Amino acid sequence: MDIEKLKGSVTSQIDNRRNELTELALKIHSNPEPGFHEVKAVTWLTQYLEENGFAIERGICELPTAFKASCGTGKPAIAILAEYDALPGIGHACGHNLICTIAVGSGVASKPIIDQLGGSILVIGTPAEEIYGGKAIMANRGAFNDLDIAMMVHPGVQDTATTQALACQNLDVEFFGKSAHAAARPEAGINALEAMLQSFAAINSLRQHIKSTARIHGIITDGGEAANVVPAHSAGNFIVRAEDDTYLDELEQKVINCFTGAATATGARLEYKWADVRYASMRNNLTLAELFIENMKRLGRTVKLSATGRSFGSTDMGNVSQLAPAIHPSIAIATKEVLSHSPEFASAAASEAGIKGMIDATKTLALIVVDLLANPETMTKVKKEFRQGK
Ligand SMILES: [Zn+2]
Ligand SMILES: [Zn+2]
Repeated sequence: MDIEKLKGSVTSQIDNRRNELTELALKIHSNPEPGFHEVKAVTWLTQYLEENGFAIERGICELPTAFKASCGTGKPAIAILAEYDALPGIGHACGHNLICTIAVGSGVASKPIIDQLGGSILVIGTPAEEIYGGKAIMANRGAFNDLDIAMMVHPGVQDTATTQALACQNLDVEFFGKSAHAAARPEAGINALEAMLQSFAAINSLRQHIKSTARIHGIITDGGEAANVVPAHSAGNFIVRAEDDTYLDELEQKVINCFTGAATATGARLEYKWADVRYASMRNNLTLAELFIENMKRLGRTVKLSATGRSFGSTDMGNVSQLAPAIHPSIAIATKEVLSHSPEFASAAASEAGIKGMIDATKTLALIVVDLLANPETMTKVKKEFRQGK
């Protein structure tokens, strides 16, 4: 088998599809839809996959905008993940229009490889990455259980093969007090807002003594109705992040202690609820990361193994990476000063550099598919690394 010839045909196939992929990415960019409402994007993406010989299952995992597109049969099963949710108000400021086009483009370009070498390619549509952690929900519902490989590429400001992502969980907190006239009868009231403020103070004290890689941050969503009424109710939303599940468990208990302490001090009653899903930390498969670096080099891009300066964000791809060997590299579409989730990043997701990054990433994922299927020992190495890291 001539691997070089196979790789050449994969890249020229993507070059031939450049215009239609660009059109798809820009169409999704100009029709931004928030998490779980990505109806148009899913229609266009699945249509493209269907036209190119993929079998489509829509609404998988009881999520209307999740889908699975497959071609080929049996093992190895290589999945390329698509995100397509936008951010309310600022559109595709995280560039998910590029992520999903990379996924369908590399999926379609992998079809001739599968036809020749066997195995199966899945393009899995994963909604609502930004707010609800669609992949975490889908992971709990078994969507990623039988995968041999899971890959995606996220737009960013550096070309990097690995990503650092913390485990995290969201927390809703409420305090219930008793309203009274704030000046005439303050002694009759129980101040729910003071309980919330004391919680913030306690968390701020705790912060000095937590690991430097952990994060706790929150907002107040209800702080009372009027200045002359003792607030009978307060509410807040918090996120706790840590490098691993064990420390996240520990930190979550310490954070709850801050709230219970404030409840005791003020006499307000505490109610809280952790989100049903927890984002897991990202496990980067270094063998896959090396393949990403090597194949990007063919396209003239120098990719670093990891970013300069670490990231403290989280991604639901972390949950997938706990179940199958995975990568979540970053492809630069803007200069380093541009912040993700900004209007400037939204522009970059429809720019020439954005499209260039998208095409290069599309090629690279399909080239990795060639490497994995043409060299069974590479696949073995990827899986061995995954097992050993567990
Ligand atoms: Zn994103
Ligand atoms: Zn984002």
